[in-house]
Amino acid sequence: MNAPRKVTRRIQLGPVAIGNGAPVSVQTMAKCDGRDTATLLNQIAASAEMGCDIFRVAVPDLATAEALAEVVKKSPLPLVADIHFDHRLALASLKSGVAGLRINPGNIGGRDAIRAVVAEAKPCHAPIRIGVNGGSLEKDLLEKHGGATAEALVESALRHVALLEAEDFFDIKISVKASDITRTLAAYRLLAERTDYPLHLGLTEAGTFLAGTMRSTFALGTLLAEGIGDTIRISLTDTPEREVRVGVELLRMLGLRSPGASVTSCPTCGRTQVDVRRIAEEIEARLEKFYRENPNAPRPHIAVMGCRVNGPGEARDADIALIGGSGRFALCVKGENVVAFPESEAAARVVDEVRRVQWK
Ligand code: SF4
Repeated sequence: MNAPRKVTRRIQLGPVAIGNGAPVSVQTMAKCDGRDTATLLNQIAASAEMGCDIFRVAVPDLATAEALAEVVKKSPLPLVADIHFDHRLALASLKSGVAGLRINPGNIGGRDAIRAVVAEAKPCHAPIRIGVNGGSLEKDLLEKHGGATAEALVESALRHVALLEAEDFFDIKISVKASDITRTLAAYRLLAERTDYPLHLGLTEAGTFLAGTMRSTFALGTLLAEGIGDTIRISLTDTPEREVRVGVELLRMLGLRSPGASVTSCPTCGRTQVDVRRIAEEIEARLEKFYRENPNAPRPHIAVMGCRVNGPGEARDADIALIGGSGRFALCVKGENVVAFPESEAAARVVDEVRRVQWK
């Protein structure tokens, strides 16, 4: 179904390879003050559990750049420092040990500043993402192209690239984000024609969970299916974990990431006696971690049903079925009623069953 992946250069962001056939990686971004290291580490850990590969943190001041030193030591994911305008923040972030930068070299105060950043980034093999947004394009390009068109976005990105190349720096990835889908698609397609640097896909200001998921899935899914894109971030007005969840599911849908748990659940109705949604989500989250640690483990089909009226019939095709009663679940394996237990134990019991049984 997908077009062959476009051949791009390979860069390395800490342990994560990007481009030239490497698996498409999923990124997200901190939704807290970067100086609040406890909250930040919680967000990173929760994102890692969901299958995140790279975690980005906004660095608006020196205190945040310095606070990242402790976070880098404890983070299970490589960190990218997101910096605007002030190259000293990039230098301090690199000193703290971040694996990469997002910074636009054309906006950081001239050639000396670019040289200083490159001189620090090169020895630590920290790649730089150039991220062009429709809302912050150079004035001359807006005039030349009559607005923030796809051509203007791409020309701006390639200008920034040229500044790094002039300093003999090539560990680059690029994003060109517009808030509407048509321009985003056009800009990435054009960029993919004009450069072989790996591309970071995203749709800026994508929106709240439902709207943002739909827009991002359509835009990023279209590009990925065309073979364009080496790393993705789903931007949502929501938690980092939910951004990751959507990104991972999108890659799975396109066959670009190994499948996750196979969980179906009933839509619930007036007969529902248990919290089907919470249990189904908890099973998915627990199995996400289990399959990451045991990638070759079998993936039995699991059904979570809200009541005994239709539950057994609807769950007949499942390998493992949870059938709700009054605050309790019955566990059926291959259609056989095995055991009943309180709702609070349901998710853990299912995961135990996945571990225990030799599924065929
Ligand atoms: Fe309703 Fe029961 Fe069907 Fe769920 S399984 S939708 S609770 S009838």
